[in-house]
Amino acid sequence: MVSWERSESIILFGPPGAGKGTQSGLISEITGKPQVSTGDMLREAVGEQSDVGNEAKAYMEKGLLVPDSIIIELIRRRLQREDASDGLLFDGFPRTIPQAQALEGLTPVSMVLSLNVPDDIIIGRITGRRTDPDTGEIYHIAHRPPPDDVVDRVIQRTDDTEETVRQRLSTFHSQTAPLESYYREKGILVEIDGAGPMGEVSTLVRDAVNRRTEG
Ligand code: AMP
Repeated sequence: MVSWERSESIILFGPPGAGKGTQSGLISEITGKPQVSTGDMLREAVGEQSDVGNEAKAYMEKGLLVPDSIIIELIRRRLQREDASDGLLFDGFPRTIPQAQALEGLTPVSMVLSLNVPDDIIIGRITGRRTDPDTGEIYHIAHRPPPDDVVDRVIQRTDDTEETVRQRLSTFHSQTAPLESYYREKGILVEIDGAGPMGEVSTLVRDAVNRRTEG
C-alpha cells in the first residue's frame, strides 16, 4: 500500500523525448494518480483554437516555453477537478522555477522522478516518433514501428522536426534543468537512467516507484 499521503502529487521530469509520455502510463497504473501532460493540454487547446491555444501555438512551434501564467492557470484549474483529490502525476510540468514555486501553493509533491537521457539519443528518438491520433499510443519508426492496421493514420508532431528538437533541448537545458537541483535540495528527486530500451527503463521506473511506495 502507499505510504505517502494519498493527496500528494508526483512529477515525471526529463528532457523532451526522455520517455515521459510512455512511462507515465505505467506510473499512473501503479499509483492510481491521473496523468496530466501540459503539452497534451496545450495541443488540445491549439486544436480547439481556444484563447489559450491561440496564444500558445507560436511558442510551441518554435520550441519555446509557453508563458508561466498560462501554464499555472491550466494546472490550477486541473487540480480543482474531482479526480485530482488524490494527487496527480505531472508529465512535462513544471518546466521553470516559477512554475515549481506556484505548484507548491497548489498541491504537495512527494516525488520527482527524473529520466536522464543524453541529447544525441533524444534527437534520434524524437525525430522518429509517431503518434496514433485515435489512441494516443506512441511509436518509433525504427524501435517500435506502428502495426499494419495503424501505420496509415500515425502522425508526426509538428514540433518533432530536428530543428525544433534542438531548440526544445536548448530551452530544457537553460530553463528546465535547474529544477533538478531545486528538487534534489528538497530531498525528493529520484534519478533514473532513461537511455536504455523502453522495457529496461520501465523496470527501473517500476522499481523506483515501488521502493518509494513501500516506503
Ligand atoms: P511536450 O509535449 O511536453 O514536449 O510540450 C510541447 C510544448 O508545449 C513545449 O515545447 C512547450 O512549448 C509547451 N509546454 C508544455 N508544457 C509546458 C510547460 N510546463 N511550460 C511551458 N511550456 C510548456
